[in-house]
Amino acid sequence: MTAEIISVGTELLLGNILNTNAQYLSRELAALGITVQRQSTIGDNHDRLADWVKDAKQRCDLLVFTGGLGPTADDLTKETVAACYGDSLVFDPEEWEKITRYFAASGRATAPNNRKQAMVPARGQKIPNRHGTAPGAWFEQEGRCAVLMPGVPREMKAMWEEEVRPRLLARQNSTLHSLTLRVLGGESDIEYRVRPLLENADPTAAIYCKTGECEIRITARAATDAEGQEKCRAYAKKFYNILGDAVYDEDVAGLEETVVRTLKEQGLTIAAAESCTGGLIAQRLTAVPGSSEVFGYGFVTYWAEAKTRLVGVDPAVIDRYNVVSAPVAAQMAAGTLEASGADIALSVTGIAGPTGGDEVRPVGTVYLGAARGDTVYLKKLHVSRPDRALVRARSAQAALELALR
Ligand code: ATP
Ligand code: MG
Repeated sequence: MTAEIISVGTELLLGNILNTNAQYLSRELAALGITVQRQSTIGDNHDRLADWVKDAKQRCDLLVFTGGLGPTADDLTKETVAACYGDSLVFDPEEWEKITRYFAASGRATAPNNRKQAMVPARGQKIPNRHGTAPGAWFEQEGRCAVLMPGVPREMKAMWEEEVRPRLLARQNSTLHSLTLRVLGGESDIEYRVRPLLENADPTAAIYCKTGECEIRITARAATDAEGQEKCRAYAKKFYNILGDAVYDEDVAGLEETVVRTLKEQGLTIAAAESCTGGLIAQRLTAVPGSSEVFGYGFVTYWAEAKTRLVGVDPAVIDRYNVVSAPVAAQMAAGTLEASGADIALSVTGIAGPTGGDEVRPVGTVYLGAARGDTVYLKKLHVSRPDRALVRARSAQAALELALR
């Protein structure tokens, strides 16, 4: 099946908002095995939209629209597309009743132009909107379909998940299964190594870059759940063969989830002393439900003085080696172990930038420590881009990696 995504809205053309809907839908359609051949953006203009739709309809099986379903005069996607698919709109009392109730619930009365939102396809179908007032629409002519969803991303995503995706799956007579591998490392390197595996038709595999890691999503089409899982698993094995230990987990939202689960399994606790990350490690760990079982202490030791007072770093060591140095990271980790009584203690000290740093320690220089028993593992990280948010995010990621050592 081939598709095109058509985003409707003058504010998109003016650059006022970023077209996140098209990105979301491209990914989702690809995951269904539907080939997206084009994305286009049209302003709120009847003639230009109608011209475009007439051509696009000849080119592919499915047109996916977002935007222009609202009550105002510039919202004209529904009537325009209806005409292109030889359909028309009729007033739907049931939708009107819902819209009236929706408004009444927030103490408002409906305006006459809200009636526009209660207009639904005469031959095609309306698509329920449980998160807003404008129903979506589905038009069909000679096997070619058009699906219309609201512009508001939250409403669009809910309608896609609940209504549109299941309909498209049903048309394809199969179900989809996916498995996500989380891989440590940079995207270009990983992509290069697994490239041949990314060109498969079924299962499909796609790579998404995150900070300090990548996600590889494997999606298989199958008649039953068991068959789908089996296909994903077999394909995942090919990635493991190439990437080995770099694959740190499956179907998790991030490294913090793996750290919390692993420590729980091992009955261990963890603490952290953070300088340039300012609490990012603590924030990521505590974002995982149930993390209190493993995480009890996080120290933000931003000043040198805080490193001394809170986790016992020797001021002479700071003077001698610099506050951003391996000995300081080591003392921070060892001191945190003692102060918290945890089994593992992480430490981070670095220069986040964008200014500061010198020849010896340029911006992006970070020392990390992980203390466990009498041993302290140390790691030096260098982030080459002087981007404060990036340096901080990469540092927190690297520290969590050390926790899994
Ligand atoms: P409404 O009932 O709110 O008028 P609508 O279906 O008519 O909804 P639009 O008026 O086109 O949708 O867009 C509503 C809002 O949704 C926009 O102001 C914008 O913030 C957001 N939006 C619309 N299209 C997109 C898009 N392609 N990507 C991201 N956001 C979008
Ligand atoms: Mg609108």
